[in-house]
Amino acid sequence: MSTFKETTGKNTGSPDETMFSPEIRPVGIIRNEIEKPFLVAGDEGLDMHKSLEKVREEVRKLDQRISTIIVAADWGDALKGIEAYSHLLVLYWAHKVNEQGRALKRVHPMGRKEIPEVGLFCTCSPARPNPVLACVVRLRERKGNILKVSGLDAIDGSPVIDIKPYVNSWYPREAVSMPEWMRRLMEEVNQHDRLEQNPRASFIEAMEERDLRRCLVKTAEIHGHYCPGSALGIMASMYGFSLLGDAVTCSDGLENLMAIVEINACFADGVQAVSGCTLGNNALIYRDLGKHAVTLAIRGDDMGVRVCARPDFREVIGRLVPAFYPLMEKVIKNRVHTKEDEKRFKDTAREAAFTLIKQDFENVFSAERVRVDLPGYAPIVDSIICRKCGEQLMATKAAPNGTCLTCAEKPYFQVEGGGIVPKNG
Ligand SMILES: [Zn+2]
Ligand SMILES: [Zn+2]
Repeated sequence: MSTFKETTGKNTGSPDETMFSPEIRPVGIIRNEIEKPFLVAGDEGLDMHKSLEKVREEVRKLDQRISTIIVAADWGDALKGIEAYSHLLVLYWAHKVNEQGRALKRVHPMGRKEIPEVGLFCTCSPARPNPVLACVVRLRERKGNILKVSGLDAIDGSPVIDIKPYVNSWYPREAVSMPEWMRRLMEEVNQHDRLEQNPRASFIEAMEERDLRRCLVKTAEIHGHYCPGSALGIMASMYGFSLLGDAVTCSDGLENLMAIVEINACFADGVQAVSGCTLGNNALIYRDLGKHAVTLAIRGDDMGVRVCARPDFREVIGRLVPAFYPLMEKVIKNRVHTKEDEKRFKDTAREAAFTLIKQDFENVFSAERVRVDLPGYAPIVDSIICRKCGEQLMATKAAPNGTCLTCAEKPYFQVEGGGIVPKNG
């Protein structure tokens, strides 16, 4: 028997009340091809019996999958007029949840052990004291007491408790906030669809929300580590975007937005990630000047914005995280260090990056409008086959004798740590 007593506040001494036990009268049953819930409650709490990728796949399929709700014959009359609604809120009973599941008070969200446990009522876990689940579905068709719906996440045989119309104006219109773990989980589940539509969607969202922290995390996925250099590249690009106006959505790597980066260091990866201008999509121009500077420009506009790190940016970083430069000297420059030094260096670099991105752009960079002279769109050129090695190459890169430069033993250029350097064939 549960008792109802406040566990905090001044009313802790209020008298107990006896729990009422309402009787649930199922009004229908759900029929579909989903046999097993993807989250099950076991000895270890919630467990996902499928990989996250499979779950995403299931969630994607839900929109297409048709479930049938067979409403009890004596309640068919209660559906009169329901076909005027496009969406319904279906309440159903998760009948496969066992007593163990109904006793859970804390769970790892979605059974993900790497996310710390949270209170059950902070989650949409199907395992709950009263496993009543709610799902907004699309009503496809009604025939008598049979409803065909899509988007229903219930398994086959689930008893339906109630059906209500979904009217969006009943729900909050203002911004809704949620814990970081939930936001991330939702992003993970939904991102595949969103990213299939627009691969930059997640970046653009982070940029529009001025969420530099997220930009840094996403950049590190390709950069490989956290460091103040890539953070500077992110900040410089964001600063440039803010001065350019509405350019964020042009960052689709189709050369409408161009970035001219003046250093091939960590900074350049921050620029590539945020601007979407990369070496591969030809929207990035590398100017071998060795400066922490980037110019952003929109094609068709001969004025761009050049953002350059202030001469004292290293002092700023040194003040924020004093241990960073001494450790960098040891680990990166002198390359004489222990495993422990390397770990400390990575930790310090991460701290420096996350601290740096909180600084005001004006304290770290100077910016100016500059005239830009952009090259034309990257040419699409013919390919030829080198008659010596048989490999395919751009015709414009062939030696006069018709072979590739390596076969002709002719000099060429390469971009390396030291910048653009000629190589003798
Ligand atoms: Zn780096
Ligand atoms: Zn060749």
